[in-house]
Amino acid sequence: MTRPVAPQHMVTRFAPSPTGRLHVGHGWSALMAMDLARGAGGTMRLRIEDIDGTRSRPEHVAGIIEDLRWLGVEWDGDILFQSQRIRLYMAALDRLRDMGLLYPCFCTRADIQASLTAPHGPEGPVYPGTCRALGAEEQTHRIAAGKAHAWRIDMAQATARAGPLCWHAFGAEGSEVIAANPAVHGDVVLARKDAPASYHLSCTLDDAAMGVTHVLRGADLRHATDIHRLLQAVLDLPSPAYRHHPLLVDAQGQRLAKRSGSLSLAQLRTQGIDPRVLAADLRARRFPVGISGGKA
Ligand code: GLU
Repeated sequence: MTRPVAPQHMVTRFAPSPTGRLHVGHGWSALMAMDLARGAGGTMRLRIEDIDGTRSRPEHVAGIIEDLRWLGVEWDGDILFQSQRIRLYMAALDRLRDMGLLYPCFCTRADIQASLTAPHGPEGPVYPGTCRALGAEEQTHRIAAGKAHAWRIDMAQATARAGPLCWHAFGAEGSEVIAANPAVHGDVVLARKDAPASYHLSCTLDDAAMGVTHVLRGADLRHATDIHRLLQAVLDLPSPAYRHHPLLVDAQGQRLAKRSGSLSLAQLRTQGIDPRVLAADLRARRFPVGISGGKA
């Protein structure tokens, strides 16, 4: 007897990095992720992406939680902290290494900049592949000598292994299948010199571990989706649907940044703004600022 297939339980998430306080654009993103889940009787999770030791600050974690609660954003279950999941990221790196898809890279930022021939991808210079050519002996020698290194994916090998890929975009008008093009990003870093895993690796692994079915995030991360889709394919992980919303911009047309304080939720709170009114305005797309890029 065949059993009926259970309708998919929607899981969304908001995944801030605690590198500063949240601004209204983050608030809008979190509200959308929550509303999407609530509207479908699903689950909304909160993940703190705190593995960037140079930029993450514990005081921002507390601030972010306070900001979200103030705005009326509620999440289900425990908050997931990436800093507590390092071992899982390491295990995935081991798997990728065993598949022959990673190589150590000893280049400094200056080395990469100096490579004038480096082509540019959607996110800036594409790594020219200098360290890909190092033999196993040289790699071992440099690592044993304690040379700082990152681990990069061998994009040609990984894309050959994965074959053609696409991802599902969801939006108000329904869903769309989009061809993924990870190759344009070149050999991206999956483990940094100064952090045990890159955003691409930790985010992909955690979305899968949390059972996220719908990722809603800013249009600035549109290109990351190509890379995440590739990692899902090589690591046998499910692929959620994605939506990249426009970004809020200031009066000069510049993207709001965590640094630029004036439109931070914390600042609005001290100005005595009513969070219910602010949340209603954001939901109705009455923004205190401009908007650019992506589909809302
Ligand atoms: N942590 C990322 C950020 O704050 C967002 C990650 C994501 O939504 O995939 O920009």
